[in-house]
Amino acid sequence: MALEDFEAMQERCSNCLGCKWTPFDKIKSQRFGENCPSVCYYNFNTYSARGRFQLGLAIAKKEVEYTETVTEAVHECLACGLCDVSCKITRFNLEPLEHNLELKADAVKKGKTLPAQKPVLEALAKEKTMLVGKTKASRTKWADGLGLKDLSKEKGDVLFFPGCKFSYDEKLQKTAQSAVRILKKSGVDLGYMGSQDMCCAGRTLQMGFTEDFAKNAEANIALFKKAGVKTIVTPCSDCYHAFKRQYAKLGLEVEVLHTVEYLDRLIGQGKIKFTKSVPMNVTYHDPCHLGRLGEQYVPWNGTEKKILNQVHTWTPKRPRYNGAHGIYDAPRNVIKSIPGVNLTEMERIREYSWCCGAGGGCSDTSPEFSDWTASERITEANSTGAEAMVTACPWCESNFRKAVDENGKGINVLDIVELVEKAL
Ligand code: SF4
Ligand code: SF4
Repeated sequence: MALEDFEAMQERCSNCLGCKWTPFDKIKSQRFGENCPSVCYYNFNTYSARGRFQLGLAIAKKEVEYTETVTEAVHECLACGLCDVSCKITRFNLEPLEHNLELKADAVKKGKTLPAQKPVLEALAKEKTMLVGKTKASRTKWADGLGLKDLSKEKGDVLFFPGCKFSYDEKLQKTAQSAVRILKKSGVDLGYMGSQDMCCAGRTLQMGFTEDFAKNAEANIALFKKAGVKTIVTPCSDCYHAFKRQYAKLGLEVEVLHTVEYLDRLIGQGKIKFTKSVPMNVTYHDPCHLGRLGEQYVPWNGTEKKILNQVHTWTPKRPRYNGAHGIYDAPRNVIKSIPGVNLTEMERIREYSWCCGAGGGCSDTSPEFSDWTASERITEANSTGAEAMVTACPWCESNFRKAVDENGKGINVLDIVELVEKAL
């Protein structure tokens, strides 16, 4: 769809501003009641989903041009989808997140990008990673000595896909290594893509670079098909969303599991047994792309009709992505199954979880906004009295750790896999 195709939707937005707040029946306090980090930080309506609908309409009608300020406003959306969930509580005919992303894509098509995006896209084209300064040659060092099957050379059913952050970040690599050891020890015959491993490119879509996404996704799909992959396991929530929602639209037909889902399954089957107690009070952060954006893509080729000049209907029934079927229970099941661990929830959880600030390319383009968003979540985590915040995404983990280091708001940040390993 082009931006012009969103006109009916842009005009349907009723300016209720529900997209700025956690739905009222879920709010537990005014302090943690807001939801869209972009409009909270910039304090100007254009940064909200409502404002983006108005801006998109004005751009499509050529009433507004992409000035420097407009271009920044368009790109400074974390693509976290919280506005989308809140809007859909009452609205059945709006797709705020899809529109936010189309607005970014329109800007990119017209050459209206931000300076910090260029090196990221260049790194992807040249080194097949969106982490600037990293090389393709050093991508698979994290896997040395783990005994993974090389699926660039032989066939295999289960692919472990670490994603860029776990492949290169030396502080995080041990989590990917632990995940592989635990899964292998539980009898899973795991492989990796060896010298052909590359970025999932999901982040390009969050930034509006749709052509770069399609090119890289198609290349990955061809590799997975050639290797005979039937299941992809990833410890990265961004990769998870890319495969389960975006690659599925391009024809990838495999089972996609986040590591936490596999761990939950193995614990349930008695294949992982804990031998130690981990006396720790923790809270859990739902990553956006595992939680509300972790729903399975369902193909739909129906038509929309307006009846009685008021009501919109879809024939056949249209899939509704509102976060209701995201992955929330598997991580909580794993945490609660670890002896000694006590889970205390934050106020904004599950589909209403506040973003870590790393999404949409904003950690590259607007680091202050990104850090502020992470700091807000750390404050919320601290309010629970937990000594550690546990999550299931390397982007969340590194953004939170950075915020803790910079702001001195002492809380430990851990991946669930690290917690599991402590109890084995
Ligand atoms: S985007 Fe949805 S929630 Fe926000 S103002 Fe429009 S109708 Fe209301
Ligand atoms: S996707 Fe997230 S940051 Fe962007 S407008 Fe919606 S709530 Fe705000």
